Amino acid sequence: MASAYIDTYYSRTVATSETYPAATGRTQTDVCIVGGGLAGLTAGLKLARSGRKVVLLEAQRVAWGASGRNGGFVSAGYATGLSSIERRVGRDQAKELYRLSMEGVEIVRRTIDELDLQDAKLVPGIAKALRYDSRGALQAACETQQREFGLNLRYLPRDEVRRLFVSPKYHEAILDEGAFHFHPLNYGRALAREAASLGSAIHENSPVISVDLEGARKIIRTRDAEIAAEHVVFTTGGYTGAVLPALKRAFLPIATYVLLTEHAPELVRSAIRTRAAILDDRRAGDYYRLVEDGSRILWGGRITTRTTDPRDIAALLRREMVTTYPQLAGLKVEIAWSGLMAYARHLMPQIGQWKPGAWYCTAFGGHGMNTTAIGGMVIAEGITGESDRYRLFAPFGLAWNGGILGRTAAQLTYWSYQAADAAKEFRSR
Ligand SMILES: Cc1cc2nc3c(=O)[nH]c(=O)nc-3n(C[C@H](O)[C@H](O)[C@H](O)COP(=O)(O)OP(=O)(O)OC[C@H]3O[C@@H](n4cnc5c(N)ncnc54)[C@H](O)[C@@H]3O)c2cc1C
Repeated sequence: MASAYIDTYYSRTVATSETYPAATGRTQTDVCIVGGGLAGLTAGLKLARSGRKVVLLEAQRVAWGASGRNGGFVSAGYATGLSSIERRVGRDQAKELYRLSMEGVEIVRRTIDELDLQDAKLVPGIAKALRYDSRGALQAACETQQREFGLNLRYLPRDEVRRLFVSPKYHEAILDEGAFHFHPLNYGRALAREAASLGSAIHENSPVISVDLEGARKIIRTRDAEIAAEHVVFTTGGYTGAVLPALKRAFLPIATYVLLTEHAPELVRSAIRTRAAILDDRRAGDYYRLVEDGSRILWGGRITTRTTDPRDIAALLRREMVTTYPQLAGLKVEIAWSGLMAYARHLMPQIGQWKPGAWYCTAFGGHGMNTTAIGGMVIAEGITGESDRYRLFAPFGLAWNGGILGRTAAQLTYWSYQAADAAKEFRSR
């Protein structure tokens, strides 16, 4: 039976109903993409636009994974900060990588524009808020980022941030007016539609079960199909299975959660008075935004190495929401869901080629909406020979995730972040 999208705000508001047939038979192609999230779809569309014959194999539905169920925040940067990237690759390359992350935001914006995607529901503005007083450090960071990268940022002092987000928790914020939030499932599906209209073969319900990467032609098999391709690109994200052990070992799947509240415009307005989205600076902080003309809140937060769903995701997240906004104590949750992200140890995307013609493009962590765009783009450019920008990511290879020990270490690190964040917040009271 054909698989369906899980129940989320996005699947409930999906704009179109097209489906794609499962792969069958023997096919030859220029490029086979395994995984139909935004990394695979962006690469597929760029390759189709460059005249390449593309076959994309998705185990479930297009953008069924993290790409179609996330917070919808699109902003510059990576899952780790500029200073830690700088420590690994030096100042110049770190800045180049950061500019590339800004380009990722523009790729998404431009694609929405070119395809006239009203259903992507783009809304500008993301505020990054502090739950403690930085004593001038945030404003200084804002000015440095504006100067170095030309980002469209505005510093919001305490009065202003609390006027927009009526919570005693927030002390100050930076509003990024160049960032935006959107409907990632409608966006992903539009990429698939466009690639298909250019002749790409998109296949849903087509899990890849084995691959042979040794010859000049890579062989990719699903239950009912065998594809021979000059290039194969693995973009299976946090849902990567055992098909490629080297890839599965390279990162950890990390779960995170989102809820959608009931329709209650007045109550929602008592807490949030802007259409800009907000995220707080804690390492595993909350991120949320208004949807449906400001009548509902879509709230995300928490990360865990436990990949099965806890009993009550809604209650977990609701607690966070009500501690931030006590006035929302009566606001009901309509649905809540989870998704898996892929995190490498260095917290940077893993983008490259491990043997000629076999590419990987994954581990975007919790910052994938701009970075999958650049990942897909630079891999496609590498395949067509247009650029070798994918090499910028070479210092962040397929490092081993540490197996079970890595999982425990990741969870402990998260808890220690939580403790440090709470202490900082407490000192600012
Ligand atoms: C709840 C949540 C909230 C988030 N919020 C944000 C946010 O607001 N902003 C942001 O920038 N990032 C956010 N992220 C992170 C972002 O969603 C991810 O980094 C990004 O979507 C990863 O895209 P991907 O294409 O690598 O993987 P995915 O979108 O997960 O796609 C991988 C696909 O590969 C398929 N697949 C797996 N194995 C096979 C196989 N053997 N054969 C065929 N197909 C296969 C899967 O079915 C899946 O569809 C969030 C993530 C989650 C889970």
